Amino acid sequence: MISNLVIQKFGGTSLANIERIQAVANLIEQSVLNGKEVVAVVSAMAGETQRLIDLAKEVQSEPDPREYDALISSGEQVSVALLAMALKEKNFLSKSYTAFQLGLKTDQIHGKARINSIDTSVLHEDLKKGIVPVITGFQGINESGDITTLGRGGSDTSAVALAVALEANECQIFTDVDGVYTTDPRVYEKAKKIDKLSFEEMLELSSLGAKVLQIRAVEFASKFNMPIRVLSSFNKGEGTLIDKEDENLEDALISGVTHTKNDSKLIIRQVPDVPGIAAKILSPISNVGIEVDVIVQNVAEDKTTDFTFTVKDEDADKAAKILNDLSGELGGGSVELAKEISKVSVVGVGMKSHAGVATKMFSALADKNINIDMISTSEIKISVVVSRESAEDAVKALHDVFELG
Ligand code: ADP
Ligand code: ASP
Ligand code: MG
Repeated sequence: MISNLVIQKFGGTSLANIERIQAVANLIEQSVLNGKEVVAVVSAMAGETQRLIDLAKEVQSEPDPREYDALISSGEQVSVALLAMALKEKNFLSKSYTAFQLGLKTDQIHGKARINSIDTSVLHEDLKKGIVPVITGFQGINESGDITTLGRGGSDTSAVALAVALEANECQIFTDVDGVYTTDPRVYEKAKKIDKLSFEEMLELSSLGAKVLQIRAVEFASKFNMPIRVLSSFNKGEGTLIDKEDENLEDALISGVTHTKNDSKLIIRQVPDVPGIAAKILSPISNVGIEVDVIVQNVAEDKTTDFTFTVKDEDADKAAKILNDLSGELGGGSVELAKEISKVSVVGVGMKSHAGVATKMFSALADKNINIDMISTSEIKISVVVSRESAEDAVKALHDVFELG
């Protein structure tokens, strides 16, 4: 086991230009001077991945998956080389690596690949020699030797996977805010930084729209008990520590409010209210790899029912087409698609043992005249689907009513 090893991941805005890359090299230098061994993981420079995605779509409206990953993973290769150069310029030993050079293996699923294994032998050798390895986030290679990518925000997952493989002390995620907040600080200025969160809470926050950490990174960290610390690469501070639940701490009733910005709602009207109808509607949707989120089936009137569910925007047209084809077959009615919706959620481990959170939430939204379309709950979260234009007001109202500021 390597002692004192930390993984330090730097996101796009932390590497937006040469000055920022030099600032990141300074941060790494500080850690090394403080006696840490560092392995750096980097994203593409700010805006670069999106630029590449847009280019791909100009050439092919549904880009070839293999070539798409080859293209959109390339931003990370630029960043690793520049950061390794910046470190060498400061007289550090450093070496950049792509996923291919490292043998970071994933499954075959382009655009959403999962990491299977990482060959750490080169990294151990480097660390022994005092070299700071700088590794591309977001990318892997599959069994056929093709480049894969891990989904938007996937560098977080690369960093956690490397931390686990190298048995690091901590996985540090440097970004453009100084930790995880009670809600997106860019949406509500009253948002407050949270010092400590359990994996369970962070999992919910990430899955419900807090893009500060990719959900898979949190899943990975939770599975292997790897502490994550979210920090700013711009300001000094302790950041937010995400770790296993601390039994001595009283659980926060509500730890945060999140919202999504890319959900769509589909309704299929007047389908026969018979056993098996939900499966008949949803199987052709999931068979093409579309993830369904909130589902509501109304109480039947006249032996027919309306069936409503949400999907990601990018899947909405495809799902609507499937429903249109299906509706005739099932003897159902019209299909409606509403694109501009958002899911707003409150999350907190403490709500397990408190009644009344939902009532308080719904009253606060009613007071602001915000209409609730759908509701879904779990032990530690309550989500509502609202129109996208009211989402930010909903976030603010809930942040206020639960006194998170
Ligand atoms: P990076 O490029 O460093 O990976 P991201 O843009 O992926 O950074 O994530 C950081 C952003 O996440 C912040 O700028 C912030 O707007 C957003 N964010 C959303 N919800 C939260 C939250 N609860 N706490 C902190 N940041 C949040
Ligand atoms: N560069 C990739 C993206 O923009 C990965 C990441 O930033 O984590 O999604
Ligand atoms: Mg990110």
